[in-house]
Amino acid sequence: MITLPSLSYSLGDLEPIISKEAMEFHRNKHHAGYVKNLNKLIEGTKYEDLELEEIIKKAKGPIFNNAAQIWNHTFYFEGIAPHPDGGDNSVTNEITEYLAEHFGSAQKFMDQFTDAGKKLFGSGWIWLIHEEGKGKILGYNNAETPLLTGDAIPLLTWDCWEHNYYIDHRNDRAAALEAFWKVVNWGKMTEHLENT
Ligand code: FE
Repeated sequence: MITLPSLSYSLGDLEPIISKEAMEFHRNKHHAGYVKNLNKLIEGTKYEDLELEEIIKKAKGPIFNNAAQIWNHTFYFEGIAPHPDGGDNSVTNEITEYLAEHFGSAQKFMDQFTDAGKKLFGSGWIWLIHEEGKGKILGYNNAETPLLTGDAIPLLTWDCWEHNYYIDHRNDRAAALEAFWKVVNWGKMTEHLENT
């Protein structure tokens, strides 16, 4: 039985940057929906008692899609957080150093990531991963996940599926990406960086 991981914040806490309504749909309909679907699909199968990561590595088709979407969404939701002090989402020293080394500067990284997010065709995810000693921005289609990309260490992701931005921004994916930078949980990314 796979469960929906809880979040460290409430769904309305990201307002006004991400509306409560958008978060409620994203968490309660989509993220929770993948959990519900997956549990139905694995019932009575060899996947029933496996950890989520194991299911993702072994399964194909609908079981893979639902499992990977659970994992991707958990990473995404942990990668954002409210900044109740009025916008203190400044990057940590570790992140500034990392992004300068691999992308020239934090701003250049954000520009490249945003650009990749705007250009990804259809549904999928934009990831910053650390692989073979390098920071890389990669687009993944549909439910694809860096968990299957060699020894990649995922650092940050943004959800390019329309359900992530249509409620607040309609078809304006660029505006949603702009908003994303205001709620990035740089502290969480700093934790991921410790694994590089
Ligand atoms: Fe999503």
